[in-house]
Amino acid sequence: MEQNDRPFIIAGPCSVESREQLLTICESLSRMPRVRMIRGGVWKPRTRPGGFEGLGEPALRWMKEISDSPLRMANGEPVRFCCEVARPEHVELCLHYGIHTVWLGARTTANPFMVEEISEALRGSDMQVMVKNPMSPDLKLWIGAIERVQQTGTKHIAAVHRGFSVFHWHNAQQLYRNDPLWEVALELRRQRPDIPVICDPSHIGGDSRLVAPLSLAAVQLDYDGLMLEVHPSPADALTDGPQQLTPKELGSLLHSLPYTSGNGNPASLEPLRKQIDDIDHELLSLLCRRMNLSRQIAHIKREQQLTVYQAKRWEEVMKDRLQLATDLGLSAAFVEELLEKIHGESIRVQMD
Ligand code: PEP
Ligand code: MN
Repeated sequence: MEQNDRPFIIAGPCSVESREQLLTICESLSRMPRVRMIRGGVWKPRTRPGGFEGLGEPALRWMKEISDSPLRMANGEPVRFCCEVARPEHVELCLHYGIHTVWLGARTTANPFMVEEISEALRGSDMQVMVKNPMSPDLKLWIGAIERVQQTGTKHIAAVHRGFSVFHWHNAQQLYRNDPLWEVALELRRQRPDIPVICDPSHIGGDSRLVAPLSLAAVQLDYDGLMLEVHPSPADALTDGPQQLTPKELGSLLHSLPYTSGNGNPASLEPLRKQIDDIDHELLSLLCRRMNLSRQIAHIKREQQLTVYQAKRWEEVMKDRLQLATDLGLSAAFVEELLEKIHGESIRVQMD
């Protein structure tokens, strides 16, 4: 992926619903300069039985027909498709119909046996593969699925961040369909900097109004790409209607996104970054001094036969620091979490 390709845009309907729907959306998307690949669900995993389960092979046949037609993407490349595979037979059909890229859905990534079988079906092909995060925020499962796919020789592999399923009481406030938990994806990137990460704001948001702010957040976090659901008429969509954009909405979203790489290093940042480095060094030496004081306290507590944890003192400390945090304009939630971490470490040091 070249620097000026970022973010790499994948767009298309949640599900392929008919030949006409696919042709219409491909014509719209092929005119948009940033769109590089078209998605379309062929087999749909349904949470509960009875919903539209995808058209299967005919959808693949229409994809091949479009890829073989004179239609080109705005940059002159042929039209390339991607879809979800959930069984080895799906991989075989995708290979047969010349599908360019496949992805493992959130429910599949959570199932190592199925990831294994799908990976075996991919062995020896040059298919590109994307691995969506599992439903639960389990980074090991996500990385494990990526490793399983890599083990069978797949070279072009990316991760897709589609958010996590978190239980909410029926009447609880729930902004997102799937909680983004950005930190999980950032940690994936820290552990596997070689794997490009694509954000799927449509499945995170579950609401077309949330797609633009989530896309902007992903760009600010320097994601490598975006996968966006687009439908010629979202109100009539057979799956995920509320979260799909119209082609017009996608056009204005892509137009409004900044396309700078987050890794730039302008000279004006240097003095500020130097100050931040100094402050971090100071913070760490202060933490070291604080832990040394905890050790001294531990000796006295042992001599006096006092318990390490003293609820009343801790309550007073927390109250005092949260007041100070508020006075200083710091987020109380952040300071509370930080203090809990520091206090936890202080207790560990004293128990030692
Ligand atoms: C999809 O992309 O249409 C889909 C079903 O996604 P997920 O596996 O993220 O739920
Ligand atoms: Mn969908």
